[in-house]
Amino acid sequence: MTEASESTTPEEAYLRALIANGLLIPMGVDGVYGRSAVFEDVLDRFGALVSGWGVENGAEAIRFPPVMNRHDFEHSGYMKNFPQLAGTIHSFCGNDRDHLALRKKMEAGEDWTADQKAIDIVVTPAACYSLYPMMAKRGALKPEGALFDVYSWCLRHEPSLDPARMQLFRMREYVRLGSAEQVFDFRQQWMERGQKLIASLELPASLDVANDPFFGRQGKLLADSQRELNLKFELLIPITSTEKPTACLSFNYAQDYFGQLWSIPMADGTPCHSACVAFGMERIALALFRHHGFDPKRWPESVRRTLWG
Ligand code: AMP
Ligand code: ZN
Repeated sequence: MTEASESTTPEEAYLRALIANGLLIPMGVDGVYGRSAVFEDVLDRFGALVSGWGVENGAEAIRFPPVMNRHDFEHSGYMKNFPQLAGTIHSFCGNDRDHLALRKKMEAGEDWTADQKAIDIVVTPAACYSLYPMMAKRGALKPEGALFDVYSWCLRHEPSLDPARMQLFRMREYVRLGSAEQVFDFRQQWMERGQKLIASLELPASLDVANDPFFGRQGKLLADSQRELNLKFELLIPITSTEKPTACLSFNYAQDYFGQLWSIPMADGTPCHSACVAFGMERIALALFRHHGFDPKRWPESVRRTLWG
């Protein structure tokens, strides 16, 4: 074994294998890839499997573009909690003279980005984030609450050689708004349903309590409290490591955090509670390729039937 291959991590090895098999196409930035038709087909088939429940249960499906209103983003508190992950968008807003200066800087290989100005949109950090400002405008919830199906490309600035940690990936979510009881029941049911869904794809999985990567010293306290209150669970599937399996689904109970923040009232005027189940679409596809091989035509018949019917 050469020194180089000895120092290759299992994550890098799996990334190389995915690229060698044409499933991911490198773009020169860690965590940003093109996807092959085979990869997309697997991801879409899993999406179709998830859709059934939403249709049966009357979830309102909404597709937002992969950006959100910057003012809504500022209001969401994302920069307080996860500034390291956010992806803001900047643009040239100058005149002819500024343009000349920009071109000179670029030609000289100098940093030209500092003169760009933040525009009115940022890249979506989680699929459900555009939903709360929309709900704030709709007024009080009906007594039965509300249920949504959202799907978006999301950006998290966490460059990595682990193919399961991408900077741009797709998140599908069911989001439930309502009373504490309605919302808690929804999350409980999905923790069970999620495990069955993944088992139907013959993937090993385990459920565990989790926390979000809150930034800084203050963030440690928030993460500890999130864990103590059991606000976040994840369904973990081994992809590149059995000791450190990857979170492929998450089950979040936000209490009345978003209800208060966005002033989304229940029929009785009190702020609503909310919960969401999030599916990391690429991670699930990567888990399937890991456990069943790079060629879906050769996957176990039962898995093929579950996905392709
Ligand atoms: P989170 O809001 O962090 O719980 O993310 C929701 C889901 O998105 C997770 O359960 C993951 O499956 C997926 N996810 C989160 N971050 C990434 C990432 N960097 N790359 C790919 N998938 C991710
Ligand atoms: Zn969510």
